[in-house]
Amino acid sequence: MAPLNPCRNVDARSQVVVVGGGIAGLAAAHRLTRLSPRVSVTLVEGSERLGGKIVTERVDGFVIEGGPDSFLSAKPRGVGLCRELGLEETLQGTTPRRRRAFVLRGSRLHDLPEGLTGLVPTRLGPMLRSPLVSPLGKARMALDYALPPRRGDDDEALGAFVRRRLGREVYDRLVEPLMAGIYAGDGERLSLAATFPQLRRGEREHGGLIRGVLAAKRAATTAGSAPPGRPGFLTPRGGLGELVDGLVARLRTGGVRILLGAPVASVGLTRPGGNDRFTVELADGRALAADAVVVAAPAFAAAGMLAALDAPLAAELAAIPHASSAIVSLAFPREDIPHPLDGYGYVIPRVEGRPALACTWTSSKWGHRAPEGQVLMRVFLGRFGREEALGGTDDDLVTLARDELRNVLGIEAAPLLCRVHRWRYGMPQYVLGHPARLAAIERRLKALPGLALAGNAYRGVGIPDCIASGEAAAEVAHAAARRSEEPVVTAPAGLLS
Ligand SMILES: Cc1cc2nc3c(=O)[nH]c(=O)nc-3n(C[C@H](O)[C@H](O)[C@H](O)COP(=O)(O)OP(=O)(O)OC[C@H]3O[C@@H](n4cnc5c(N)ncnc54)[C@H](O)[C@@H]3O)c2cc1C
Repeated sequence: MAPLNPCRNVDARSQVVVVGGGIAGLAAAHRLTRLSPRVSVTLVEGSERLGGKIVTERVDGFVIEGGPDSFLSAKPRGVGLCRELGLEETLQGTTPRRRRAFVLRGSRLHDLPEGLTGLVPTRLGPMLRSPLVSPLGKARMALDYALPPRRGDDDEALGAFVRRRLGREVYDRLVEPLMAGIYAGDGERLSLAATFPQLRRGEREHGGLIRGVLAAKRAATTAGSAPPGRPGFLTPRGGLGELVDGLVARLRTGGVRILLGAPVASVGLTRPGGNDRFTVELADGRALAADAVVVAAPAFAAAGMLAALDAPLAAELAAIPHASSAIVSLAFPREDIPHPLDGYGYVIPRVEGRPALACTWTSSKWGHRAPEGQVLMRVFLGRFGREEALGGTDDDLVTLARDELRNVLGIEAAPLLCRVHRWRYGMPQYVLGHPARLAAIERRLKALPGLALAGNAYRGVGIPDCIASGEAAAEVAHAAARRSEEPVVTAPAGLLS
């Protein structure tokens, strides 16, 4: 095993290795550079590029996002990090004049009723007018006001909870497609406590779901916590790649060593002179010594690296399921589209039984994404438990996406360009039992001071949550690395305990 970094008696600075160069790993490395110049940071990324799920391509005047296209403004660390990087001024919200989205039913698009907050309808008017739910379904939804809350503390599947409170129709036609747009998940398996704990809190504290959401809205307005006038979703004008570029530039000036094309095979522990030190071994046989390690790779990859160090920890990580999906981006001349594209796009309920999950009208949703007179769209394929469509070639996926656009929007023309981005096991699923699994993971980590985990598999899949998890892991690693610099004092028995 060839050592890649010098040992501490040559360079007195403590060493932290961050594994994984997605947004969580980049944020961790960035936070470490801000915490102390005395910590030497190495970022190790298995692929040849940084950013992980964030992939922004600029082609012929189009800005194409292969993965995420924006982040929630209400969660502080998205905007917060952009501010630290000097990117806040470049953030743009969704185009306000087209603030409208649709839900597919049969082959027709219907307006998503206004006033859906955190998946729950909070305005009666738009719901009552919506043809998406039958009169009987609406009556069942209103029953939420009268139904008593469920007793007990045990977790419940998201789907079961929403059906219990609002009825099957509202779940199938409205809540399920919105939820799937976030997790590409199956509501029958997702844990309510891990995905939307505020819904259960609302039920418990206010007696009903709609009552709870209304109370939360009132409280947020009184406390002034909702940033007035700020759009719900934000992204840098040139795409999320600018966030990655900004971070990488800071890491380079901060002296972070970045290793690309360097998959980590294992993380082990050695005890030179009685002090714990980690060894991060790369697949090519090279090794890095570290006082602390942040593993910000996907949970299943983390499981592989940590199997020899702590088998029970690795087993918990490996048990987190992941959904696969693909995004097909297509561009067309505007005149070839018979539909007005007067909104942000549409979602497709699982009960429709189609391979596509959603379609975003990117150039209507965001400014500066397509040249004048042309349009850009993204079709999302695959969802948890229904991933068979992804088995085909890229050409097959383009055909599926074009079938979708032909059936719903009447687009017959050939696209000007197509891009396929596949996300194999790209989206962790917080299934029933996830909170207990997190507790078990934390118990194992307590016995491994200096090892921290970050990323989308634990406490939030959105970009702000991933940033926050990377930063929290950096704090843990930094504290451990500084402790390892403290002199080891040998005292007579009885003086230290
Ligand atoms: C299609 C799609 C659309 C999404 N849309 C949105 C959205 O609009 N808004 C939003 O907020 N979120 C969205 N998300 C979620 C969000 O993008 C991700 O949860 C987040 O980017 C994950 O970041 P991460 O750093 O945890 O993981 P990743 O981005 O997966 O980064 C992990 C990194 O670890 C590396 N790695 C793996 N194994 C090893 C190894 N052995 N050694 C070294 N490195 C390794 C990988 O190569 C990768 O670079 C979307 C996700 C997907 C898949």
